[in-house]
Amino acid sequence: MADIIKLLPDHVANQIAAGEVVQRPASVVKELLENAIDAGSTSIKLIVKDSGKALIQVVDNGVGMSETDARLSFERHATSKISTAQDLFNLNTKGFRGEALASIAAIAHVDMQTRTENNEVGTHIKIEGSKIVAQEAVATPKGTSIAVKNLFFNIPARRNFLKSNQVELRHITDEFHRVALVHPDIEFHFYNNGSEIFNLPRAKHRQRIVHVFGSRMDERLVPVTEETEVVKVTGFICKPEFAKKSRGEQFFFANNRFIKSPYLHHAVVSAFEGLIKSDMYPGYFLFLDVDPSSIDINIHPTKTEVKFDDENTMYAILRSTIKHSLGQFNVAPVLDFEHDPNMDTPYAFKGKEAVLPHVTVDSSFNPFQETTENTKHTDSYRKVSAKGWENLYEGLDKEADVEAFSSLIIESEEQVQGSIYSEDESQEHLASTFQLRRKYVVSTVKSGMLVIHQNRAHERILFEKFLSEITVKEGVSQQLLFPLELSFNKQELGILKEIQESLTNIGFAFESLEEETVKVTGVPLMVPESGIGTVLDRLISDYKEGFSEGSFSQAEVLSKALSKNLAIKTGEHLDQESQLALVNNLFACKEPTLSPSQKLTYTIISEGDIDKKFN
Ligand code: ADP
Ligand code: MG
Repeated sequence: MADIIKLLPDHVANQIAAGEVVQRPASVVKELLENAIDAGSTSIKLIVKDSGKALIQVVDNGVGMSETDARLSFERHATSKISTAQDLFNLNTKGFRGEALASIAAIAHVDMQTRTENNEVGTHIKIEGSKIVAQEAVATPKGTSIAVKNLFFNIPARRNFLKSNQVELRHITDEFHRVALVHPDIEFHFYNNGSEIFNLPRAKHRQRIVHVFGSRMDERLVPVTEETEVVKVTGFICKPEFAKKSRGEQFFFANNRFIKSPYLHHAVVSAFEGLIKSDMYPGYFLFLDVDPSSIDINIHPTKTEVKFDDENTMYAILRSTIKHSLGQFNVAPVLDFEHDPNMDTPYAFKGKEAVLPHVTVDSSFNPFQETTENTKHTDSYRKVSAKGWENLYEGLDKEADVEAFSSLIIESEEQVQGSIYSEDESQEHLASTFQLRRKYVVSTVKSGMLVIHQNRAHERILFEKFLSEITVKEGVSQQLLFPLELSFNKQELGILKEIQESLTNIGFAFESLEEETVKVTGVPLMVPESGIGTVLDRLISDYKEGFSEGSFSQAEVLSKALSKNLAIKTGEHLDQESQLALVNNLFACKEPTLSPSQKLTYTIISEGDIDKKFN
């Protein structure tokens, strides 16, 4: 038998390859936009007609191409982006296969004009179905303009397969979003049939999201930030109340490339568990930065599916980071102890005036007073209003009479709850707290009694707050009406300068740090004006000490020092609201169990332990 194997001619091979790269107009948009970005453009224009069926044009102001490169760029496997296989493991560009232009040119009419900075005249090339039909010198601005016309002109089956203009435009818009969202530093314009549909100026990530999705988006976004050895996560999630029934604003970007990852999507959704219904989708814009060698973007021809080396760790980090953001920005109902209302004691009803006309309030009643009234205990309790109950336990706080306390609860539980408060009211006040010896905040949880060390807990809360503010730069500052002048020595000044950026991030503002008298013009909201000097002094010395201990980052040392200095101390009275806030905020922390100096912040005394005492 005669030999039958032949090498396919290039244009046939290109057409076959094109089938993989170009499924629809949106694929061309993606490839052209990515090339423009790889070319270092700062301004990119996308022009489409008839949803890309008639024209897709991308005009950039990037590096452009020489005459030879312009011709070569349409050859298959022609790329300037990698030269050895090793380069594949350290990709910083979007393209690398050298296939896109060759594929597009195989199935469309392509018109390219390009010029580099060093060339005075540019090159104009026309290609139809892989064949160069014209090439000439042209006067054109620096950069590249590629117009793709009559897509699939030579593959009628493909052309017929295209969906309505509306659908194709939606696909194009999706691709445009994916590129524009991750490159806020590039200006984008997008025109369809002559009208501008997007005009995106250079911006920060948050603004870019708002420019793309509308100003209503701004209030919906909650920042996310985390840096670990495996991955750096930044970006935004949308508050749970704005979750949608349909998929839409879910974006993962890995090393500035849009990716799809059902697995990581699951991590995000699971962080929203309990906050949104199971058939709703949370919105998110998450930017993951990983070591390029730990990610394989090569497993899918259109490069949206990726493989991470350590997916399980990524999952865990992502989930906890998002949970944390939700908690930190008070998005989640943070106190969730699967509360058992049966465990509630009546003094939970803080500040609630129980309006019950048939009850007369005996405000002079004092349960600690040994009187003959004691014999009528239950009757008296029945008369006490919510306010009265609060007084009751305040007295307890002062005297810390443990015995009276136990009897109080035993005596009161049934009667008061049953008689004064309706079922509904008791539901509203699930989380009750009280302060013990101005040192602990006590609350009930399903498994028993929660005892929180107020000082350590607050240190933990502040530590995480400052740590995130230093990195996210979102501290709120109060401007001082009259700048405060403080003196520092050279060494202290040196330290202040070293930590100035972090301090600014959490809300401090200094006029200048050049002179030995420093003018403080703003401080974080929680620093009292009278305490500014002391706080800064201690901060400087703690920072010096902390840093010499080694192995901690500046942000950690500073946050630790600040939280130590500003936390609620043992001995401070906390009103009911503060107690509750303390409990809520502690459990919104990433690591609620330990203080920044690794000491226990709370303990739970189980019902079993309490039962044992009564054996
Ligand atoms: P890849 O992007 O994978 O390298 P392409 O076929 O998309 O392959 O592009 C081939 C080459 O053409 C690129 O490597 C690049 O050198 C050049 N090129 C394509 N588009 C542009 C552009 N807009 N500006 C400058 N150079 C470009
Ligand atoms: Mg490319």
